[in-house]
Amino acid sequence: MSAQGTPKGSVKDGERRGLMFVLSSPSGAGKTTLSRMLLEKMPGMKLSVSVTTRAMRPGEVDGKDYRFIDKTTFEGMAKKGELLEFATVFDHHYGTPRKPVEDALSSGEDVLFDIDWQGTQQLREKARDDVVSVFILPPSAADLEKRLHTRAQDSDAVIAGRMSRAGHELSHWAEYDYVVINRDVDVAYSEVAIILKAERFKRERQTGLSAFVRDLQNQLVK
Ligand code: 5GP
Repeated sequence: MSAQGTPKGSVKDGERRGLMFVLSSPSGAGKTTLSRMLLEKMPGMKLSVSVTTRAMRPGEVDGKDYRFIDKTTFEGMAKKGELLEFATVFDHHYGTPRKPVEDALSSGEDVLFDIDWQGTQQLREKARDDVVSVFILPPSAADLEKRLHTRAQDSDAVIAGRMSRAGHELSHWAEYDYVVINRDVDVAYSEVAIILKAERFKRERQTGLSAFVRDLQNQLVK
């Protein structure tokens, strides 16, 4: 025992292996709002900021929402192995820079990914035990269309393209560990937060646990 009465080797904050928390959904299902709420309300979590070749939308901030780069830079990063995963979505390239993710995980932080099913498959292939994936479903097609219009960041043609792609994206729901229907954003947030909290308690992720239990046993079994 230490002077404070804490067993030696107790599980302290940070003695945990970080996890890769993936949120996927068709555009407009509320995933971006849920991501923002998680980052605001859940300590110990940081966003993986993707690189993309698509144009910046009004209100987006370079380096915060995405790092906006050109195609040559993207291809160079992919070739040098600097991307953990990458995919082409709506004719644009998107990818996850490797280094910030690896740094966060090894320091016990969780990393939040707002990526599509192609990226999720790649992460799962590379790090199955570290990936927790959640698919967000819209409550209806009408609701999805309304949200895409309310967002008003894209032209009608782009919105039509996103609607038709949503049907295809939905077919990947069964590849995810968890599925949440976003009927009400506060309810959906609490459901996603419960998933994260429970996953943090997984035995394998509590890396200080065996030392903690050994120490307890030493005190109990004389
Ligand atoms: P948006 O252009 O609306 O921001 O994103 C379009 C789609 O690309 C969304 O489904 C989003 O989750 C996905 N996406 C964003 N960043 C990445 C990434 O780094 N990798 C992959 N695979 N998909 C991404």
